[in-house]
Amino acid sequence: MSAQSTMIFRLGVLLIGVCSLQAASDSRRELRDEGSQTAPVGTVRLFEGARLIVGDGSTPIESSAFIIENDHITRIGKKGQLPVSAGAHRVDLTGKTVMPALVDAHVHLGYRKGLSFSADNYTRDNLLDTLDRFAYCGIAAVLEAGTGRGDLPFQVRGDARSGARYLTAGRGFAMPNAGPGVPMRDAAFGVTTEAEVRNDVRMLVAKHPDMLKIWVDDRNGTVEKLKPPLYRAIIDEAHAHHVRVMAHIATLDDAKDLLRAGIDGFGHIVRDREVDDELLALLKQRRQVFFVETLWGERRAIYQEKPAWLEEPLLRDLLSEEEIAQLSDSFASAVSLTPQQRESARRLLRNVAVLHAAGVRLGLGTDTGGVTGGQYFGLASLVELELLVRAGLTPAQAIVAATRNSADILGLDELGTLAVGKSADFLVLDANPLDDIANTRRISMVYLRGIEINRPALRARWR
Ligand SMILES: [Zn+2]
Repeated sequence: MSAQSTMIFRLGVLLIGVCSLQAASDSRRELRDEGSQTAPVGTVRLFEGARLIVGDGSTPIESSAFIIENDHITRIGKKGQLPVSAGAHRVDLTGKTVMPALVDAHVHLGYRKGLSFSADNYTRDNLLDTLDRFAYCGIAAVLEAGTGRGDLPFQVRGDARSGARYLTAGRGFAMPNAGPGVPMRDAAFGVTTEAEVRNDVRMLVAKHPDMLKIWVDDRNGTVEKLKPPLYRAIIDEAHAHHVRVMAHIATLDDAKDLLRAGIDGFGHIVRDREVDDELLALLKQRRQVFFVETLWGERRAIYQEKPAWLEEPLLRDLLSEEEIAQLSDSFASAVSLTPQQRESARRLLRNVAVLHAAGVRLGLGTDTGGVTGGQYFGLASLVELELLVRAGLTPAQAIVAATRNSADILGLDELGTLAVGKSADFLVLDANPLDDIANTRRISMVYLRGIEINRPALRARWR
């Protein structure tokens, strides 16, 4: 090939490359245009005047300033003390509070669409719309806990997108027809032999799931609980491939045996009994083990009356009148709860408090999108903070659980706190959530990966 034809060839390749890039970004824009506003690429942005909650429990920085370059935080300090070039874009946040975006480590995407709940809803468009709902509420990342269908979750995870990050456990594991609730039930591998589970785990880890999920629950005697030799084999095989395993549990005894089997974390709190010293001793030996509490799933029994947030504007942004009425009615019927149901809700909160006091790693998880979680994507993650405070955590501790701890649990190093080098993922609030955790729902702006989420456009889409 002559020098000239080589150059023409290279130019051709370059043009093809540019065209396919253009096509990819066009289709992305089509899907995402409403989701996020255009970032001033390459510009330096200075945000000043806000109270800044770092997300690690430290004292907030009053009258803060921080600088974002592209999608990362490059400086943090006090207002008036950061050196910025004359061309920097300034955002005045005086009177506002900034906190890290949240991470929800237990959700079920794709089945819920408004009031309908069906595997037929599991489409790319519905997954993306759900991620937009999380982004709208300031949730930077979610983990789909074992109800992924086919390759779609892995494809959507891999797409270059702005907005909320999508992590997935792919398909979870249970005895045949004994995993997640209907209509998600067939998403899980139904397993009966050790050879089978090892084979299924190997098939799954080839897709690089962010965690594995198992169901260890007989659903009040209605289904067969995953047998210990099977979950031991799943954990063993997953660990051999450097993938962690999270368990759906209900009982104290199962939690203990799973800990002995090397489980990495739990998708719910212990629900049948008070946590005891033996459990705490097992947890003390393995400090990395985490719990997400899914108190949202027990909201009726915990509140026992209509919560004040039913009247908040955020609900009208996200939900139809009919959906709000249904949610409201569900609390009205809470007056008919039995004393046993009320007591079990109190025990749940006590268990959270005891684990927290013992220094156990608590993150945020809601089960939104599942049977008890409903379609309240985003809203539920914010209300979960309030429920953690009801369990006895301070607002600052609840925020740490939902930000730093949850990001740690999912291995998302760039999220969780607001610090130099971290991704610029944060909420701008109209009032201080350290005074009242309900203020986490008074959202003025959301930034994910340095881009402001276009909340007015999303509201218009959902109206
Ligand atoms: Zn779940």
